[in-house]
Amino acid sequence: MRCTQPRRCILEALMKGPKTHAELLKATKLDRITVYRNLIALQKIGLVYRVYLPGHDPVYVLCEGEGAEHAHFFCCQCRKGICLPSGTVQIMEPWASHTQRVLLVGQCMDCR
Ligand SMILES: [Zn+2]
Ligand SMILES: [Zn+2]
Repeated sequence: MRCTQPRRCILEALMKGPKTHAELLKATKLDRITVYRNLIALQKIGLVYRVYLPGHDPVYVLCEGEGAEHAHFFCCQCRKGICLPSGTVQIMEPWASHTQRVLLVGQCMDCR
């Protein structure tokens, strides 16, 4: 079954959990360029963010939280992305007003 609304298909795939570009190709059956372009568009609007892990392909994670001002926690063990309530991470000035996004990486409560 071919997907006619690439963005929708990518979002649906990511709802089931964070995925690499290769995993998204497999899950959506879309071509590389379409997946790549849509991932960039989704990152620009803040619906998707990318996590780099050493020795691993970047993982794309769906942001399901509300408001632009929240930080993200990514569990590197079970590959789960968590939208933290805003205010969880306090950043001091002058950095606060220069920060676009905050990503924390570690092990979630289920993993340790
Ligand atoms: Zn989020
Ligand atoms: Zn975990």
